[in-house]
Amino acid sequence: MAESRPVPEVDRAAAARRAVERRRARASLKRDLTTRVVTPQTVLERAVADADSVEGSMRITDFLLALPAIGAGKRDRILDELHISPVKRLGGLGVRQRVALAHWLDTRFPVTKPRDARSRLLVLAGPTAVGKGTVAAHIREHNPEIHLSVSATTRPPRPGEVDGVHYYFVDEAEFDRLIDENELLEYAVVHNRSRYGTPRAPIDAALAAGKTVLLEIDLQGARQVRKAEPSATLIFLLPPTWDELVQRLVGRGTEDAEERARRLRTAKVELAAQNEFDHLIVNEDVASAAAEVVELSSSSAR
Ligand code: 5GP
Repeated sequence: MAESRPVPEVDRAAAARRAVERRRARASLKRDLTTRVVTPQTVLERAVADADSVEGSMRITDFLLALPAIGAGKRDRILDELHISPVKRLGGLGVRQRVALAHWLDTRFPVTKPRDARSRLLVLAGPTAVGKGTVAAHIREHNPEIHLSVSATTRPPRPGEVDGVHYYFVDEAEFDRLIDENELLEYAVVHNRSRYGTPRAPIDAALAAGKTVLLEIDLQGARQVRKAEPSATLIFLLPPTWDELVQRLVGRGTEDAEERARRLRTAKVELAAQNEFDHLIVNEDVASAAAEVVELSSSSAR
């Protein structure tokens, strides 16, 4: 018979540390699902690929509860309907259960397929603090062949911002004039504060000259462009995780606590709109995210 030996102290400490890390990773994954930084389909795929992963060890009950608009009652009805026991973990589902769950997810949370139609008008949007501006600035520096639209805004310049390069800084009266004279392709009030808009003429000129045009604008603007120019390619930039997005917003240090809270609320609403976009790009690192955007632009220039 095997003799039971006491577990050495170091092993126990390491195991406790691993347990804490795992709990943290599980909590982080739940936030990513709730805020839609990750699709439930992707989580299920990862769980199936590796039952020992964070995704694989997630309880089916926690998974369903983390999805938008699913409460305890609905969760139990879904489990019944899919013939899945509430004690199951995602990585431990049978084949039939997996297929049934995947089908249910696709019906409930349809994933947009990239459209084949290509255009030279690219729109880059995404939640606040995801790094759209940094990715756009990287493209401005490394890809002069792409015309980066310069927006008009009523917000005052930040230190280092140059009129005509980063924005056209205009007053309220001038912004009204731009709207009245139909000089803006789209415009919106962003973060309940200032107005931002895309001047139409430079874009028309660049497109006419055969250039690819990139707009870095907010979600409301992206929707307006979709309506005005249905063939535009809409790109949504995602943070690697929700926690990372919060970190980036706090780390930037340009907003006070109230403004940060306001922007995070906006970010949640914005993340929920990602399915309206043609392409999703995760901004893990600026250079690669920029390269992916540029890749879409060169394929669109065919
Ligand atoms: P910031 O004030 O930090 O430069 O920009 C705030 C937000 O305004 C960003 O999310 C940016 O994408 C958005 N934005 C910048 N220019 C435009 C624009 O022309 N139209 C719209 N709709 N949003 C813009």
